[in-house]
Formats: sequence, structure tokens, C-alpha cells
Amino acid sequence: MQQYIARRGDTVSRIAARHGITPGHVIQGNPWAGEQPYLYPGQILYLPSAPRRRYSVQDGENAETISALFGVSIEELERFNPGVASGRAITAGKVLVIPQPASAQVVTVRSEYGPAEVERDTGLLVEKYPFISREVIGTSVLGKPLHLLKIGSGPRVLHVNGALHANEWLTSPCLMSFIEQYGAAYAEGKSWHGRRPEEWYRNWTLLAVPMANPDGVELVQEGILPGQAGYEELMSWNSGRRSFRHWKANIRGVDLGDQFPAHWEEEQERRGIQGPAPRDYGGPAPLSEPEAAALAELAERFPGEAAVSLHSQGGEIYWNYRGYEPAESKGLAADLAAASGYRAVELTGSDAGYKDWFIQRFRKPGFTVELGTGKNPLPLGDFEDMALETGLILADILSHRYFLD
Ligand SMILES: [Zn+2]
Repeated sequence: MQQYIARRGDTVSRIAARHGITPGHVIQGNPWAGEQPYLYPGQILYLPSAPRRRYSVQDGENAETISALFGVSIEELERFNPGVASGRAITAGKVLVIPQPASAQVVTVRSEYGPAEVERDTGLLVEKYPFISREVIGTSVLGKPLHLLKIGSGPRVLHVNGALHANEWLTSPCLMSFIEQYGAAYAEGKSWHGRRPEEWYRNWTLLAVPMANPDGVELVQEGILPGQAGYEELMSWNSGRRSFRHWKANIRGVDLGDQFPAHWEEEQERRGIQGPAPRDYGGPAPLSEPEAAALAELAERFPGEAAVSLHSQGGEIYWNYRGYEPAESKGLAADLAAASGYRAVELTGSDAGYKDWFIQRFRKPGFTVELGTGKNPLPLGDFEDMALETGLILADILSHRYFLD
């Protein structure tokens, strides 16, 4: 049992992940940690030590077979077990400590994925794959960078963004994970689920903004403390609730999904929300918020052949907007649905979203994809499936003959 003092940004799952234990282990020793919406800096937790995986060597085994069995390197195995060495026999029955296999992937989700994780992982991706580049396309209300990842050298531009809605932050690592898989396959000249990344690279430039609303994401994940800037206002917009898990808006209570100049006034009237709120307030004017303005500027600067805005949840793909979409959008959406197992859905009575604006402004295919199913924020365990579905949809666009003819 060790004592740990919570710091700013700590959550139960972040602490658990750092200490090699589960969130359940943390809550077991600190029951209040499971009941409070957030941990507060200074709170003391008692953490059990991480259980070590042990293994009893079987007849005829050696360092090579055991490292292969557990997917760890021989060097790591040697480091944890002095005396064990490559090429030397190990006595059956000897108990070894098996280290955690190092993840070969940059983008993994072991706890809340927030602005700091995007900052770190976009940096690592660019380092690992020099043909991926990173840019800052603007800053959030609180001054956080809005990162753009760029991959490909083709003449066609595909815009993709994630986490426009704060409590849909799991869409960020989904998008980044696809870029990582694309980068890895491209670097090795391999196919990706039967598709050809080198063709994507040659035909398209993919412009991805994985976390469009970093301030909102941080609010959902970490809450807000008395004394922090904006505390009184945020608490009142949140009707006094301490938990912000349902929060979709940016830090000024403006819903970035209702910020785009596509029949914005009608959407405002339909929503009927006059001021800052957890969701559905479109702001004082279209593009009043720096996060939405940065996305619009990016699309103006690099007019795209298509755009995808990642949301959650529902397992649905929205493809139309008031008939401004190209005739082929419906068929494209059906193909994306077939590729991912999602449903293509025709929507009416909704305006001012990113894809609405993209379709109306450029008359090109735009899609809103509602990843996963369940209640936001979706559980971390859904990440692998959602990331794959994201990839299948984006890969289908990047490979689709509609854009290539
Ligand atoms: Zn959403």
C-alpha cells in the first residue's frame, strides 16, 4: 500500500494506468474516489502495489520461447530476471517475473484521452513517421493548440475532425489511431484491411484535427475547481452539477456542433436556447468561437473533396443537407455503411453543423459519423472497435472510385 497525493489532472483511471493497476483497485482502497465526480488535487489515496505476473517455467523452455509466449523482448525478460539469458537453459519450475509487453503502438487508450495525450501522441507520430506532419491551426478559448495532422501528398483533400463535442472525446484517439495504422502500413508498403495505403497517399492529402474542442474535453474529464477561472459561470451553466460528463459545448458554453453558417438562425430558433449551456447553444453568432472558426478557415484554405466529422454515438452516418449534397452522396453513404456495419441515415430538421456547412459551402460530400453505441462518454473498452470502424469508413472514402474517376 502506498500513499499518493492527487494532482491537477489526475483521474482514477489515469492514476490506475500509471501504477499498473485497475480503476477498480483504486476505488477498492478509496471508496469515496468512486463516488466523487472528480478527484481534487491534494486528496490522499492509498494504492495497492501492482501485482506482478509470474510464470513457472515448463520443461524444455528457454528465454526465447517464453519471450515469444508473452510477447516481451528477451532483453526485458533478462532485466526482470537476473540469470536468465538468451541461449542458456532455464530449469523447469523456476518462477519468472513477466514484464508488461511494451506497446508497439503510439496511440493507446488506457485512461481518459485528453489534450495532453493529443499533444504527446501527435508529437510521437510525427517523430516515428516523418512523412506525417503536424501543424497548429488555431487556439482554443483557453489557449490550447488545435493540432492538425497531415498525411499524404495527393491533389484531393479529405478533412476529418473529432471531439467537436466535449464528451465525445473517444473520437480523438479513434482518428489518431487510424492515422497511425495508415502511417505504419505506408511505411512498410503493406496493405490495410485489403486496401492500399500507398494509393491513398498518392491520391489524397488527409487533414485531420483530432481534438477540435480541447477545453471542453478537459472540463468533461477533470471538472472545475473553485478558484479556477470561470468556475462560478460554468457551475451555473451546469445548473450547479459538479459532474460535467454530459457536457458537449466549449468552455464558453457554446455548442460547436451548432456554430457553422448553414441556416444558423433557424437552428438557434429550433433549439430555443438563449445563453451558454452544456449543449445546443449556438453562440452569439456563427463562428464566434475560435475552435469552429479554425475548422472553417482550414476548409477554406484547403478546399476538400470530402469531409467527415466524428461524433458519438449511434452507429450512424448522416450524409445529406437540405439537398445541397451531390447526388452521389447517398450511394457513398451506403458504401461507407456497408464497410463499417453502420446505418446510413437521411436527416432533416438539423442545421449549423460542420458537415452541413461543408456540404452547403463546397457542394461536396460531407458526413457526420456517430461512432459506437451506448451513453457518452463511451467506455474505454469500446475504443478498439470504434477505432477500427473509423478506419474502415475513412479507408473506404480514400479508396472510393467516385473520387478517383
Ligand atoms: Zn456530437
